[in-house]
Amino acid sequence: MSSFEIIPGDAQSTVILHVPHSSTFIPADVRAGIVLTDEELAAELAAITDAHTDIIAAGAADQAGVRPWSFVNRTSRLVIDPERFPDEREELNAVGMGAVYEKTTRQTTLRTPTTEERADLIERFFNPYSEGIAALVRERLAAVGKVTIIDVHSFPVNHSAYELHKTDARPELCIGTDIFHTPATLLELTREAMRPATPTGDIENDQPFKGCYVPLDQYGSNAAVQAVMLEIRRDVVSSNMGGLQTATATLIDAIENSDRTT
Ligand SMILES: [Zn+2]
Repeated sequence: MSSFEIIPGDAQSTVILHVPHSSTFIPADVRAGIVLTDEELAAELAAITDAHTDIIAAGAADQAGVRPWSFVNRTSRLVIDPERFPDEREELNAVGMGAVYEKTTRQTTLRTPTTEERADLIERFFNPYSEGIAALVRERLAAVGKVTIIDVHSFPVNHSAYELHKTDARPELCIGTDIFHTPATLLELTREAMRPATPTGDIENDQPFKGCYVPLDQYGSNAAVQAVMLEIRRDVVSSNMGGLQTATATLIDAIENSDRTT
């Protein structure tokens, strides 16, 4: 069984929805390496999981004029976090929360893997995931020449102990950008489309979470791969799921329209 799922979109679609953090599934042998009690694990999953972001993406895909492709992680980020660098480039290694978490959001011990156990998780889960989304991006580039990845996340109202940028704003919506892969037009389309789904239009760029996901074989080199991250504050997710689905569909339509007219 694959740890992720690709839900096909329309042949002419230029958009990929990426949902890395919505699952709570942990295979039994991976669970065995986590030192938390079942009760503690349930609390950690509640804190770390971007709950319902898969439902936002699925609703948006259904409503969009041209169905986007979707790449959805079907295992918990406690197995591996596909959005971290698997090596020393990752700044969250400093707090035990790199690709293979060793600490919880409260900075207590999650697991203490041996070098072999860590390598096994990277080989079984991280590498196939990275290669899977990189292959999908290459296939879409070959089919339509241009791809925009919309990365769909949520974040808690109050900061967690592990966060590195605790004094940052915690707006209703944080739009994560990349200097190379997020052109100003994409940022503007994102703000415009998503604003109606926020209670007061409280939107910031790259606060409290920065950047957006681009496969490493395209990163910093191929401008035909564009990307943006939606980090939605969790009180907004729970109070306005329908509005977020509609707004994300509006964003998908706006990207498709701009790709057809340029
Ligand atoms: Zn996330």
